[in-house]
Amino acid sequence: MTNKYMYFIANWKMFGNLKTLNSINKVISFTKKNKKNKFKLVYCPPASLLFPLSKKLQATSIDIGGQNCHESQNFGANTGYINSKMLKDVGAKYVILGHSENRQLGESDKLINSKIQSSIKSGLKVIFCIGETLKQKKKKITKRVLFSQISKGLKKIRNKKNIIIAYEPVWSIGSGMIPREYELFEIIKYIKNKVRGVKVLYGGSVNSKSIKNLKKINNVDGFLIGGASQVSKNFIDIIKKTYN
Ligand code: PEP
Repeated sequence: MTNKYMYFIANWKMFGNLKTLNSINKVISFTKKNKKNKFKLVYCPPASLLFPLSKKLQATSIDIGGQNCHESQNFGANTGYINSKMLKDVGAKYVILGHSENRQLGESDKLINSKIQSSIKSGLKVIFCIGETLKQKKKKITKRVLFSQISKGLKKIRNKKNIIIAYEPVWSIGSGMIPREYELFEIIKYIKNKVRGVKVLYGGSVNSKSIKNLKKINNVDGFLIGGASQVSKNFIDIIKKTYN
């Protein structure tokens, strides 16, 4: 059992519509009933749902975040994009950056670094995702990969108080596989040694079953949850089981 302040970040990816938002009512009532538990819930829905969700969550303790943003803080001719100021404008407090699904589409460490800098300037907290592929894990170069992602992604960012790192092994996302407890503890320790004072979340196949093992890792500061966050009951179960 823990009493630690934990983050539970829901990454809805490209799922959800206006109707789906009603399902969050269950989570809202859960948070209202559980004021004594110290945790932070953040929903990162697709961009189309940011504004309606922000209105819905106005009188609650739940925050919202974007799933990515453009590196420029200015308006511009960038079809299909939104920037960090625009996220802020619709009520977002957080933004996920460096997610492996976007790295796989070609986002470089340099680009991610520009996005992080711009988001911090706009007053957002950044959930900075890092993680190794299965091939890199098998080659036993996980720490080297993470070090490279951290040093390039956080280049020139002196004040890290608005950075939260999400360690998401690529092989674990959506696969049902999670790292062994001692491995995860070691990696989180490694990240915290490299970036002093930063909170480190774990992401990858967190669900109401895997949480039983994941919650034992006492240096983890919360979870970034994809698939299981889309069903309110599952999301609530994860939170409940973390504290029980
Ligand atoms: C994610 O993609 O950020 C993630 C954690 O996904 P899942 O929980 O579905 O593995």
